[in-house]
Amino acid sequence: MIRDRARVVIVGSGMGGGTLAWGLAQRGIDTLVVERGYPLPRERENWLPEAVFTERRYKPDEMWRDDEGGEFHPGVHYVVGGNTKVYGASLPRFRERDFLRTEYPTAVSPAWPFSYADLEPYYSQAESLYRVHGTTGQDPSEPWRSQPYPYPALPHEPYVQETISRLAAQGLHPASTAMGVDLRPGGSCQRCQTCDGFPCRLGAKSDAETCALGPALASGSVRLMTGARITRLETDEHGRIVRLHGDVDGEPLEVEGAAFVLSAGAANSAALLLASRTDEHPEGLANSSGLLGRNYMVHNNTHIATVDPRRRNDVVFQKTVCMNDFYDDLGDGYPGGALQAIGKVQGSMMKTHATRAPLAMLDRIADRSMEWVVMTEDTPSVHNRVTVDPDGCIRIHWRRTNYDRHEAFLSKARDILKKAGYSAIFEQRFTIDMNSHMCGTAVGGADPATSVLDPWCRSHDIPNLLVVDSAFFPSSAAQNPALTIAALALRVAAETDWDEVA
Ligand SMILES: Cc1cc2nc3c(=O)[nH]c(=O)nc-3n(C[C@H](O)[C@H](O)[C@H](O)COP(=O)(O)OP(=O)(O)OC[C@H]3O[C@@H](n4cnc5c(N)ncnc54)[C@H](O)[C@@H]3O)c2cc1C
Repeated sequence: MIRDRARVVIVGSGMGGGTLAWGLAQRGIDTLVVERGYPLPRERENWLPEAVFTERRYKPDEMWRDDEGGEFHPGVHYVVGGNTKVYGASLPRFRERDFLRTEYPTAVSPAWPFSYADLEPYYSQAESLYRVHGTTGQDPSEPWRSQPYPYPALPHEPYVQETISRLAAQGLHPASTAMGVDLRPGGSCQRCQTCDGFPCRLGAKSDAETCALGPALASGSVRLMTGARITRLETDEHGRIVRLHGDVDGEPLEVEGAAFVLSAGAANSAALLLASRTDEHPEGLANSSGLLGRNYMVHNNTHIATVDPRRRNDVVFQKTVCMNDFYDDLGDGYPGGALQAIGKVQGSMMKTHATRAPLAMLDRIADRSMEWVVMTEDTPSVHNRVTVDPDGCIRIHWRRTNYDRHEAFLSKARDILKKAGYSAIFEQRFTIDMNSHMCGTAVGGADPATSVLDPWCRSHDIPNLLVVDSAFFPSSAAQNPALTIAALALRVAAETDWDEVA
């Protein structure tokens, strides 16, 4: 039996857990981060599309189930730093409206229990921690900020600049994407083609291990246990969590603490609490609202490859431009969404989706294509939920919500890009396994009857339990989630009275 203890125990070292550990380190709080994975090795395969996408080298073998029992590989990475080790490092803030209630024609996006203004100082802190490069004054949807971006925006390469000119000629306002890479003076980023979706062999991507957990460990008050998978939380007769149970490579593990934080990712954090059910808590821990695991959201996303046969795309680092002109209003009084260039897709990466197309043909398309994500908001539904099967397998019950808005914005994006010279457009709509933006499974709110967590991510039911990851999100917005998760974690670290929680 392996035993350990700390004042604060965090489960998971990704965006939520790693950033929280950094925040607790600033306060000198004795913290143990318990992570089921190991550090992702820096090796040749980091940058090989076949290894990363076809062989799924950095993904777990674990399968999850859908409604009908069909199995799929989820979009998770069980390594130190979690999903941020492979993420695209696009780090935008949510907009002010995203924290308010928004009515769509057929759905409602609920308000958060605090405003953009409450989170704004922590967005600035998160941008500094994650070395965000960006610029202001281009994007009509951008929210106000108290601090400038820490670093200037990434310059656009000529091919991207030409596309920007074509969009601007339509009266649109393409803007620089806020990016977390180390292009500071003397920084280690080389602007390579293998960033978005790949681990960084140089450590130049602003992931949670590099920017937050590493410095937290160096502080001396934070420790990390790797290979340690937590399977159950145990409560005492007062209803407080007393210890975590799990294993390290098959050897039983018990971790004691005064305060416990789940940052295992939206599905795993909810699954852990559901799997910790007892006779006293038959619906799982921290679930008096009955909402634990429900309101699972993932964004309505479509990848598109837009082809202009007359122009060869020789770009190396493509992910520098986004377009939010229709974020608040698609022209019909309702929000549209965000259009963002993604990392340059190579033919072999297309092959994981277009399995029957010959590689040579995909390479020819990739030579003249530019790739984007079309992102719109999905809305919470109690029917979309995470449950845990009797054998411990995670099951995702999911139907698309607010999809009419996705169709509408996708259609607008196609029109715009066609006018910009892209005569052929190929689409890949996100399916259940493409859930890397998942959130909402332990929603935050002021009312214990309609939320799982309070506005500072603390369980309404269990005083020494917090959930600090995207599970908290009451709505998904239509911007990438990671910076908001980091800001949330920094707010919790700074504003929580840890003496009282523990
Ligand atoms: C390919 C890809 C590209 C992406 N691009 C972007 C982007 O450009 N911008 C953006 O904002 N977001 C992006 N994302 C999403 C972003 O990475 C996630 O939103 C973010 O990492 C979620 O943070 P988290 O703390 O909730 O979970 P994670 O970062 O996934 O961390 C969860 C951690 O918990 C650990 N864990 C899980 N269960 C247990 C357990 N039982 N015991 C112990 N440890 C456990 C995991 O191993 C993991 O380390 C991308 C994701 C992927 C996969």
